[in-house]
Amino acid sequence: MRKIVIANWKMNPQSQKEAEVLFRMIAKGKNFKKVDVVVCPPILYIEKLKKISSKIVLGAQNVFYEKKGPFTGEISAPMLEGMGVKYVIVGHSERRAKGETNLDINKKIKSALSSGLIPIVCVGEIIRDGNHEYFNVIKTQIEESLSGLNKSVLPKLIIAYEPVWALSTTLPRKDATPLDSQEMSIFIKKIISDKFGIKTAMPRIIYGGSVDDKNCGELGALVGGASLNADKFLRIINIAENK
Ligand code: PEP
Repeated sequence: MRKIVIANWKMNPQSQKEAEVLFRMIAKGKNFKKVDVVVCPPILYIEKLKKISSKIVLGAQNVFYEKKGPFTGEISAPMLEGMGVKYVIVGHSERRAKGETNLDINKKIKSALSSGLIPIVCVGEIIRDGNHEYFNVIKTQIEESLSGLNKSVLPKLIIAYEPVWALSTTLPRKDATPLDSQEMSIFIKKIISDKFGIKTAMPRIIYGGSVDDKNCGELGALVGGASLNADKFLRIINIAENK
């Protein structure tokens, strides 16, 4: 399976010009053969960025599940698709913290898929408790977010395991070990095979949480802070390419 490295620029950089400079620097990196590279900038930068290079695929950071209508401030999956967006992040912990539920995420995944977008579904516990309750948190997030999906669509999905306690913006934060992410990747596959059947083709499972050029592991990555530095981001892609 091809690896994927995804940049989540969040609400950065501050101007179209800076976004273009950063994107150009990333696009100047060598051609990667084994890694798909996706950049998810703020949506208003996309129109210009897509003219700079087709080498990097563009993603959005959110989508709304209705197709049209009185939903102030929202952007639909068909609108994203029409802009040339191919991927969309759903269920990021920063949106969950603002009240986004697994049901919302489920509807967003279905809407994204029906417009041909690839959902990057974020799951992750806020804390690691001593009773291992965090496994149940992930189980519920996966089961409810993927509810009602036909198992044939699962290989199209990307699941990003992003423990909130390991994000670069969480204070105080802790480092997740490669073992933490590998264990959770196995656990997520088990939840999916229990729910959809043992022969189900799996989504790609990647890791996010303070990934930089020093700690990127075996799985693909969703990269926040380090993706705002072109050199660091290119080094992460290079490591993924050679692992
Ligand atoms: C994120 O919030 O999606 C993320 C991966 O952030 P960071 O890499 O900065 O921890």
